Amino acid sequence: MPKYLPVIGMEIHAELNTKTKMFCACENGYRLHDHPNTNICPICMGHPGMLPVINRQALEWTILVGLALDCEIARVTKFDRKNYFYPDLPKGYQISQYDQPLTYNGKLKVGNREIGIIRIHLEEDTGKLTHASGGTLVDLSRAGTPLIELVTGPSIESAAEAKEFCQLYQRILRYLDVSEADMEKGQMRCEANVSMQESEKFAVENNDIRPLLDHKLNPKVELKNINSFKALEKAIEYEIKRQTKALENGEKLVQETRGWDEDKQCTFTQRVKETAADYRYFPEPDLPPLNIDEELIKNLRATLPELPQAKIERFVREYQFDLENAKILASDKHLAAYAEEVLSELSEWLTSLPETEGTKEEILTKEGKKLSKLVANWLINRLFKHLNDNDTSISEAKITPENFAELLTLVYTNKVNNLTAQQILEAMFESGQAPTAIMNEQNLGQIHDSSELEVIIEEIIGKNPKAVEDFKAGKEASLKFLVGKCMSAAKGKANPQVVNRILMEKLK
Ligand SMILES: [Zn+2]
Repeated sequence: MPKYLPVIGMEIHAELNTKTKMFCACENGYRLHDHPNTNICPICMGHPGMLPVINRQALEWTILVGLALDCEIARVTKFDRKNYFYPDLPKGYQISQYDQPLTYNGKLKVGNREIGIIRIHLEEDTGKLTHASGGTLVDLSRAGTPLIELVTGPSIESAAEAKEFCQLYQRILRYLDVSEADMEKGQMRCEANVSMQESEKFAVENNDIRPLLDHKLNPKVELKNINSFKALEKAIEYEIKRQTKALENGEKLVQETRGWDEDKQCTFTQRVKETAADYRYFPEPDLPPLNIDEELIKNLRATLPELPQAKIERFVREYQFDLENAKILASDKHLAAYAEEVLSELSEWLTSLPETEGTKEEILTKEGKKLSKLVANWLINRLFKHLNDNDTSISEAKITPENFAELLTLVYTNKVNNLTAQQILEAMFESGQAPTAIMNEQNLGQIHDSSELEVIIEEIIGKNPKAVEDFKAGKEASLKFLVGKCMSAAKGKANPQVVNRILMEKLK
């Protein structure tokens, strides 16, 4: 066991995409406007005498997120004022939640390990500052945007696990449709607390770390202002190395906030904490404590969609996808729905063909492995390429699941070979046309008439006496060479197995 072990906890803020702001009727959408200070009102600007009103949608969505993460939901919750002075905070305090968060004590499984979640509370975002030459510009459009803050226990053990936790959380927020959770856009902000502790001299229990015997814990570093999952992983990895080295050299570490320098690929000191900040929290006098009743929780629980992990497991169980493909397909709920529809349509297509027997369900059970492999292969390896190249998403693609399934049916029944199918897919992506129409229009169907193939094969044999001789002398590679020649002569429209068979017969 290494001498020092990483102890990591996460604090993740996510903007909720509610219609209106947290405590006023302003439109919640500061990104929609080019001009600063557009969607603001006396409440979110903190004018004296203005009273906040709680956004019910934000409240319900926070409960929903809590339920998705196995949290307990508070029956009584309240808002508190977090007091500090900064120009982006018009009221001089932020309305947040202190000792009675809306949801608490949850967990999220990452691989085989369960990461404890201490709390998820609801609060409002601040405005935005832009430091320009000659002064600082204040934009209050963002002030009052509903934010949820998730805090994990210090039970994350590596940079990769921290990254995966954040990615899973992002996926859940997107499945629930409560946040776009894009890190690059600042809709999701991940901060990590990282310390290195001497092994066997500390314990992590009940979402807390405690020293064993009279040992003293090493200070932790807060990593802030990180705007991608990749940067998060790198910053934590860097900290693990930096702190380990310092401890091994007997240097003293300090509790501090560090940022990530993408150019230099290292963390740097932003602020050294000498004493804990005193925010003088006190209950928000303008908002009464809230009672959350059982009925509301029950109703919200009933609206929970199938979550990513459950979907992955079902895809493996029900459709026989392999785990890796199931994970990729379930990474986006629209993609998962598309894949599922394609599979359903594909088995429907197959029931209508003379070469397959049985009902849709029977085909899915019997041929499941083959079909899911085909679907995953064509979605992940082929369609994704077109989506990426055109910077578009599955929801915007012109290809309907029905047409996509029709293309796969052509592949499955050898009506077209792989190469031709790719040509057809490209045309489908451009025009949204059905594959059979494209195939007929562009004369891309496979040559099934063997007399037509025989003419081509005879010609190739006649033109390549050396390869024929080599094959007859036992050189297997020559056969492949001849098949290749025939295929290109047939412009890819021949079935390689058939070509192979006819060639073998002729070369006997
Ligand atoms: Zn407002």
